[in-house]
Formats: sequence, structure tokens, C-alpha cells
Amino acid sequence: MEDCLFCKIAKGEIPSQKVFENDEILAFKDINPIAPIHILVIPKKHITSLAHIQKEDEELIGRIYGAINTISEEQGFKQDGYRVIVNCGKNGGQEVMHLHFHIIGGKKLGTKIAT
Ligand code: 5GP
Ligand code: ZN
Repeated sequence: MEDCLFCKIAKGEIPSQKVFENDEILAFKDINPIAPIHILVIPKKHITSLAHIQKEDEELIGRIYGAINTISEEQGFKQDGYRVIVNCGKNGGQEVMHLHFHIIGGKKLGTKIAT
């Protein structure tokens, strides 16, 4: 996807503050954090949204959660806990159309998820 912002970040064409990377997953700090910890985790492969996951992507999605667990350990917030949010489509408030997982933490979050 030539015009996709997160594809460009995945390829290193746009700089980001990386916190984790392997051959298929990249995690980097959100440019506009809403909490002390706000990391975005993306597949390097372009997947538009959760609604676009194919059967063949399902194991990759599992490995993204594995990467999130690793990141929480490496970055030292595993014990304190955190929240993972995936916005999907128009009603979900998705602005960047490349699947991404928000890791939010570093403070006590509200008990209600955003409505
Ligand atoms: P969405 O609303 O699509 O779930 O979240 C998109 C997220 O991407 C937002 O939290 C926004 O701050 C972040 N973002 C947008 N552009 C950039 C960028 O160029 N670099 C980084 N690191 N984050 C970005
Ligand atoms: Zn993309």
C-alpha cells in the first residue's frame, strides 16, 4: 500500500520511536499519546482493519498479542497492567486504515471503556 502511513513507518520511510521489531511486527510510540505509555503495535503486512483479517492472518494476530506481552515485560509495565484497544472502521473511530493495536498504560485508567 503505497499511500499508507503505517506501511511507510513499517518500511522505515517515515521515522518512528521503535520499541519492538521482528520480521513481521513493529511497535512504536504513538505521536500523540493519551497516557504515559501509548504504544502502537502493527503487522508490517498491510491489513486495513480488524474487518479485513483473513483466515491466513489469524496466527499473526495471535503473535501480535504475544509481542504485546513481550513489550510489556521489556518496558516494565507488565505487573502494573495496561489496556489494549483496536479501533475498527468508522463507528470504531479508526483514523489510520492499517490495523493497529493501541497499548495504553502508565496510569490507572478509568473502569469504563470509552463510549
Ligand atoms: P486510530 O484512531 O486510527 O485508532 O489511531 C491512530 C493513531 O495513530 C493515533 O493515536 C495517532 O496519534 C497515531 N498517529 C497518527 N499519525 C502518526 C505518526 O505519523 N506517527 C506515530 N507514531 N503515530 C501516529
Ligand atoms: Zn498499510
